[in-house]
Amino acid sequence: MYPIDSLDNWHRGQGLWPDVAAEDWNNWKWQLKNRLTKLEHLEAHMQLTADERVGCLFAKDKLALAITPYFFNLIDREDPDCPIRRQVIPRAGEMLTAPEEMLDPVGEENTKPVDGIVHRYPDRVLFLVTDRCAAYCRYCTRSRLVSNAQDYNFHPEFESGLQYIREHPEIRDVLLSGGDPLLLSDRKLDHLLGELRQIPHVEFIRIGSRIPVFLPQRITPELCEIFKKHGPIWMSIHVNHPSECTHALRDACEQLTYAGVPIGNQSVLLRQVNDDAEIMRSLIHRLLMMRVRPYYLYQCDLITGSAHLRADPRKGIEIIQSLRGHTTGYSIPQFVIDAPGGGGKVPINPEYIKEITDEAIVMRNFSGDEYRYPLVAGAKVEKSADAPELETLLV
Ligand SMILES: *Cc1c(COP(=O)(O)O)cnc(C)c1O
Repeated sequence: MYPIDSLDNWHRGQGLWPDVAAEDWNNWKWQLKNRLTKLEHLEAHMQLTADERVGCLFAKDKLALAITPYFFNLIDREDPDCPIRRQVIPRAGEMLTAPEEMLDPVGEENTKPVDGIVHRYPDRVLFLVTDRCAAYCRYCTRSRLVSNAQDYNFHPEFESGLQYIREHPEIRDVLLSGGDPLLLSDRKLDHLLGELRQIPHVEFIRIGSRIPVFLPQRITPELCEIFKKHGPIWMSIHVNHPSECTHALRDACEQLTYAGVPIGNQSVLLRQVNDDAEIMRSLIHRLLMMRVRPYYLYQCDLITGSAHLRADPRKGIEIIQSLRGHTTGYSIPQFVIDAPGGGGKVPINPEYIKEITDEAIVMRNFSGDEYRYPLVAGAKVEKSADAPELETLLV
């Protein structure tokens, strides 16, 4: 019924850059240095639509344009609606704004005790350690500060962030994000993770990064040694579409997991990218093939200029419903809406509960059939006829 995936169908190789020495291609610094960051760079390789051309000219005031050669290769240059293209090439829609849109859609600026720390939940913090990424997602929820196109002038102070965490014993979980933490040098990451590990109440450390997807070359043996040394370090990557699952990403995930880094994936539900049950099914199956556990599926935040990319959340519910029970439970992410203004992540689920009374919970299973699970409160408990007297058992 569903086509079986094959690694033979996954992208590999240097694509448009066949003559670059493998040594350079596989070097993350070469990839960064050769990023496509201007209209002219893109137009040297492909024909842009008028919509995209306008978007590229406007990007410098909103969120920088940058695409690694590796990721650019995943674009279908013949298809103006290519789902990879929609994620990283700006469109004129970024210049528009809808009344419900915001520059800080999940209210991070209101829960910022020191620069770089967002403390919204009681036991965990988001620690923003850089404002730079290897490539920029056009729906970035933190575009107000990321890439500094809007002159936010983010200057992360590692020491004040660390000090805040040291002084708050309730913080047991630290999530490094940004920007992309894996753009920091090995030396800085080693230092940062070492300092966090020295804080006795910090039990859980994770890194949110799209580097394995944009720049898998960054996952080097040296970096993996750092994760091993300070482990367990968990990682959340960000894959949206099955075409992003390449041999290079698979190799990067393998190195990370061999170094003891459990990996989850956070996708954003995006219009004409992955708001489709078959695409999502293919994506999550590929993630499992790479040892990656789908974690969250996010409804796109109400970031200014994102209307052209936001999908209908009802589609998200429908997708989850089409997966639950129909495929491996491990592959199904939790669909969430990060509540506008700062309420945190709210799970959004298909309705399986028909009714709860004092007697029973009445539910529908994955194929729509109704079942009833009786509750203890309503149960009529009696001794069965052939059972021994309770008193004889209790002595
Ligand atoms: C998403 C988020 C976290 C982590 O939430 P989990 O549900 O534990 O993954 C922590 N802090 C902030 C501010 C967040 O937005």
